[in-house]
Amino acid sequence: MQNGKTALVTGAGRGIGRAIAKRLAEAGYYVIINYNGSQEAAEAALSEIQEAGGAGETSRCDVSDYAACETMIKELAERLGSIDVLVNNAGITRDTLLMRMSEEDFDRVLSINLKGAFNCTKFVSKYMMKKRFGRIISISSVSGVMGNAGQANYAASKAGLIGLTKSVARELAGRNITANAIAPGFIDTDMTAVLGEKLKEGVTDAIPMKRFGKPEDVAALAAFLASEEANYITGQVIAVDGGMSM
Ligand code: NAP
Repeated sequence: MQNGKTALVTGAGRGIGRAIAKRLAEAGYYVIINYNGSQEAAEAALSEIQEAGGAGETSRCDVSDYAACETMIKELAERLGSIDVLVNNAGITRDTLLMRMSEEDFDRVLSINLKGAFNCTKFVSKYMMKKRFGRIISISSVSGVMGNAGQANYAASKAGLIGLTKSVARELAGRNITANAIAPGFIDTDMTAVLGEKLKEGVTDAIPMKRFGKPEDVAALAAFLASEEANYITGQVIAVDGGMSM
């Protein structure tokens, strides 16, 4: 059953974003599945949602493109009436040690992971402020909290997301808009599938629960933060990491 609210999930064709879109659709949101390169995956995610009785649409936009984000969000908000929930999920890695990290490796990761979230948050908040309601959820990472060798660019982008979240939470609290970050640990998706077996074993050893999480573990928290029940929670960073960062 629809709840009359809309949710925009960036990078929702695959992985964690897809699980979040599915979970929000189950909760009754009209879900906008944003994607950049994975059109087929985004359409498959939408079909899955529709087959389960949910509703939504797909929308292509590179979140690092400021003007494209403005155009997408303006069109969606005006046509649909509002965007009640924004999930800044789109993200990439370009892992390598600092000495080998190129300027391009640094800039690309920051422009998608951090500037992409700034772009979407800025344009969506305009409509949330008018409605005096909004939920902004950004997918950070344990790397942003703890740092990680080989991820100077990624960890910087994810720590930046935490600063963005807390600042936005302070600015928009008076308008009944909450902003929170989720810091997942290691979750089974395409992003972690590329890690070598030896590295995976080492990482698993550092996780008190001794296993990787599932995209659904992150989606459950995102759905809670979007819900009415979370209306007094803002500016927080909540880990979903099997105890890794405690
Ligand atoms: P994934 O499977 O690699 O998916 C990444 C998603 O980001 C894809 O849907 C991709 O869409 C989208 N994306 C990439 N560049 C984009 C752009 N320029 N514009 C719009 N969308 C873009 O990764 P994941 O594991 O699900 O990660 C999702 C988020 O969780 C990321 O922010 C990641 O940093 C974070 N995270 C993941 C883990 C983990 O262990 N997996 C842990 C902590 C945090 P297209 O394919 O359409 O480009």
